[in-house]
Amino acid sequence: GAQPGTGPKPLAAISGVKTLIAVASGKGGVGKSTVAVNLALGLQAAGKKVGILDADIYGPSQPRLLGLKGQPQIISGKTLKPMQAHGLKAMSMGFLVDEETPVIWRGPMVVGALNQMLRDVAWGDGGDLDVLIIDMPPGTGDVQLTMAQQVPLSGAVIVSTPQDLALIDARKGLSMFRKVGVPVLGIVENMSTFVCPKCGERSDIFGHGGAEHEAQRLGVPFLGAVPLDMDVRLRSDTGEPITATLPDSEHAKIFRAIAERT
Ligand code: ADP
Repeated sequence: GAQPGTGPKPLAAISGVKTLIAVASGKGGVGKSTVAVNLALGLQAAGKKVGILDADIYGPSQPRLLGLKGQPQIISGKTLKPMQAHGLKAMSMGFLVDEETPVIWRGPMVVGALNQMLRDVAWGDGGDLDVLIIDMPPGTGDVQLTMAQQVPLSGAVIVSTPQDLALIDARKGLSMFRKVGVPVLGIVENMSTFVCPKCGERSDIFGHGGAEHEAQRLGVPFLGAVPLDMDVRLRSDTGEPITATLPDSEHAKIFRAIAERT
């Protein structure tokens, strides 16, 4: 049996990385990957050295968001050199398998792949990272739970739309991280108010304020609301994330503020 006074074995640190932050969501399509990359860029704007690991093995979107193509270089043996875009170091399953090949692995294989992308990548190449952002697969199933358990996370950020349905899923995410003892750094409300670019009228397409209210109720920080905006979508599709390419925009300011609170 376990010896008295010994807790679970501490997780081995990731070489070249000082802190790891997971960006998670209760379900897909709420803008988790978009928030993850812009949060990474917001932290970079604050002077930190930042990397992003796309752990969404089934639907990797960071290569597209960052405008990255091709494959990482092998440095030595099994160690890969991270790719680089907009000043961020990046690794994604999307670099390792081609877009047409669906990944059909089961949970343990997915977790194995994540561990490899974490531990067999030279994150510290050219200087240690202050923060590695992990773009988690959407949802709160076994795979996500195991990932949260096996990775030495400093904390997690949860992304939700203002809708009730998305919020219920976000709540599951929160309890998942609490279960494995990972502090929830806060909730980001994405696809919040839409401001008409022609007339300036504000519309709350998916509702408004739901995430802030929920954060208060659950006793976790509210990190900020990201409006629904055409530019965010267009720039995401072309690999030009708004925080890097339009630093004076309202959205870039919002993402820098979210990064400051994280
Ligand atoms: P997830 O990672 O949760 O599946 P994505 O980040 O891939 O979500 O976003 C889903 C889609 O919504 C993408 O086309 C993305 O460009 C778009 N999107 C995300 N956030 C916003 C926003 N604030 N305004 C407009 N479009 C957005």
